[in-house]
Amino acid sequence: MSPARFLDPTGQRYGIPTYPWGWAFTFDADLATRTQLAALGLRPNGQEAAAQLMWRSRRAGHSGVRTALLYRISRAKPKRPMTPGRERAVALALRARRTCPTCGLVFNYCIPTSLGQCPNCAYGLTPETWELEVAA
Ligand SMILES: [Zn+2]
Repeated sequence: MSPARFLDPTGQRYGIPTYPWGWAFTFDADLATRTQLAALGLRPNGQEAAAQLMWRSRRAGHSGVRTALLYRISRAKPKRPMTPGRERAVALALRARRTCPTCGLVFNYCIPTSLGQCPNCAYGLTPETWELEVAA
């Protein structure tokens, strides 16, 4: 079964933009589950879910499909007051998600968790300049 069944970036089929497990960051690096936000010390801050993940799972009852809501990192608020140290930690965590563990390059999108490395390393390609973060 192709994960493309769960790919609905416009929300036409499922009523809300929908991505297969592990694909959301490839399409929109600003999306994170509640658990991922918590790992960054953030909370959704009352925002509506911006999208959802869908994946097949044995644990999912008769439908065989599980979902998780995705929130915008840019609209999330810190769980505790942000300090310069915490702000730096969040920036580093976000940067780590954009760094390929294989080639060490920093991309302007998050490394797909489904690949565990950048698509270039996964498919033997050369990164395009638009993909790479401009050095500050
Ligand atoms: Zn790479």
